[in-house]
Amino acid sequence: MTALSRRNALRLAVAIAAGSAAPARAQKASCEADGLTPTQQAQRSSLHYTDPAPNKAATCSACAFFSEPAGGCGKCQILGSAVSAGAHCDSWSKRS
Ligand code: SF4
Repeated sequence: MTALSRRNALRLAVAIAAGSAAPARAQKASCEADGLTPTQQAQRSSLHYTDPAPNKAATCSACAFFSEPAGGCGKCQILGSAVSAGAHCDSWSKRS
């Protein structure tokens, strides 16, 4: 393999890796603040909604207020909007 073809192979590998990561980014974006009302955005802010959660044991997916997990996103009963399964806020309550 020449240096040029090795370089092209590396570029192709990087492009493939970037392409496979794109759906994950799009998935996360769908849980983000797009389309939220000002009230919902204010609730997120006041409850310090954070994605990703600083404590991996206290994520939305393990919270009693999280429901309908689908592809990394779910619905939060407190915030009344879509949230990331890996996020966290001050209202976190352990699911029983
Ligand atoms: S209350 Fe907070 S931690 Fe629980 S699901 Fe909603 S945003 Fe996530």
